[in-house]
Amino acid sequence: MSQEVRGVIAPGKDEPVRVETVVVPDPGPGEAVVRVQACGVCHTDLHYKQGGISDEYPFLLGHEAAGVVESVGAGTTEVEPGDFVILNWRAVCGQCRACRRGRPWYCFDTHNARQAMTLAGSGTELSPALGIGAFAEKTLVAAGQCTKVDPDVSPAVAGLLGCGVMAGIGAAVNTGQVGRGDTVAVIGCGGVGDAAVVGARLAGASRVIAVDIDGRKLTQAESMGATHTVDSSATDPVEAIRELTGGFGADVVIEAVGRPETYEQAFYARDLAGTVVLVGVPTPEMRLELPLLDVFGRGGSLKSSWYGDCLPSRDFPMLIDLHRQGRLDLEKFVTERIALDEVEQAFDRMHAGDVLRSVVVF
Ligand SMILES: [Zn+2]
Ligand SMILES: [Zn+2]
Repeated sequence: MSQEVRGVIAPGKDEPVRVETVVVPDPGPGEAVVRVQACGVCHTDLHYKQGGISDEYPFLLGHEAAGVVESVGAGTTEVEPGDFVILNWRAVCGQCRACRRGRPWYCFDTHNARQAMTLAGSGTELSPALGIGAFAEKTLVAAGQCTKVDPDVSPAVAGLLGCGVMAGIGAAVNTGQVGRGDTVAVIGCGGVGDAAVVGARLAGASRVIAVDIDGRKLTQAESMGATHTVDSSATDPVEAIRELTGGFGADVVIEAVGRPETYEQAFYARDLAGTVVLVGVPTPEMRLELPLLDVFGRGGSLKSSWYGDCLPSRDFPMLIDLHRQGRLDLEKFVTERIALDEVEQAFDRMHAGDVLRSVVVF
């Protein structure tokens, strides 16, 4: 029997989101229905609403979520009803070339639910954000999108690992491979940048330099563990980072903005043979121009980090453990807990830079 639940829909380009009744089918083979307990408001949800990702309206928004598995379809072995899970958008296939080569975080055939959720009444098929659609009391996903973790943590905190916080921590730990004693700079200190600061500290960096044009964000980055801050609206960040690293530049520079100007800063703010990690998401029209001789002469590596190069089955339980041990304070990322019908206002506050994360709690 399909069920009717309330969910947040983006009906069309730039139209305000609204709560509608959504039909959630019973899980088919390899699928699961999850009772969502919490779902964070991410920039990607706003991009869907604005038409920046695709034009397959209406979207069922929300993808940074945790909840409890309610039912599973035939042949499902990954999870069972009652499991506390974080939803992920990287349910790896195990069969593609990347998976077979042992690099499943590059999987290019990740799984989503095969059946569609629909709008009650019209029967219009919904496109779930990142194949999840968790601003809803219940959602239908592929079972592999559910990662079971210790239930002894708040859902609002656990859900954050499903997207932005994982992207930032992973950019430092997985992609940047920050090691003990490294110097790290993070350019752009929103949710993902702050998580990169946290990741760099977890990995044992000796200095973590936070760079932003907004003083409030720098203060926040300090509370996340940044050892130094640079206001790049007033100071040349490349010079400042060099000064703070004995004239060398940082070993790893994480670009969490996704713009050519800040990428260039990252490129020149690293030490010779250092690493640049791009985790900020650029737009299609952006172009990068660098002297090729500098790319050659400065050596090192220029990397991109998709979803923090995470493997949910490996990284989510590990990070939840660190949180439970008191070594990773995820609660700091939750600015406010809101109701399902407050997502539109949460977008405004996020856009204004007033919040790190608003989390819908059911
Ligand atoms: Zn694969
Ligand atoms: Zn996201």
